[in-house]
Amino acid sequence: MPLLEYTCEACSTDFETLVMGSEKAVCPKCRSAKLNRRWSLPARPSKAAATPSADCPTEGPPCNPHCCRLPQD
Ligand SMILES: [Zn+2]
Repeated sequence: MPLLEYTCEACSTDFETLVMGSEKAVCPKCRSAKLNRRWSLPARPSKAAATPSADCPTEGPPCNPHCCRLPQD
């Protein structure tokens, strides 16, 4: 089952999600469905902070929906 990576166009949140069948992924932060699919390829240095979850920064916004600094529910 593919783990798909997306970047939200609305709030620039990077996240990964499993999408089953015809389900649509939505941003876990703002619920926008306007997402850019990202593939797990070596990242091109097109954006600063394009490598979320490699290691979590200790300041700034959480690096991803599963950031260790977010409460898990
Ligand atoms: Zn969003």
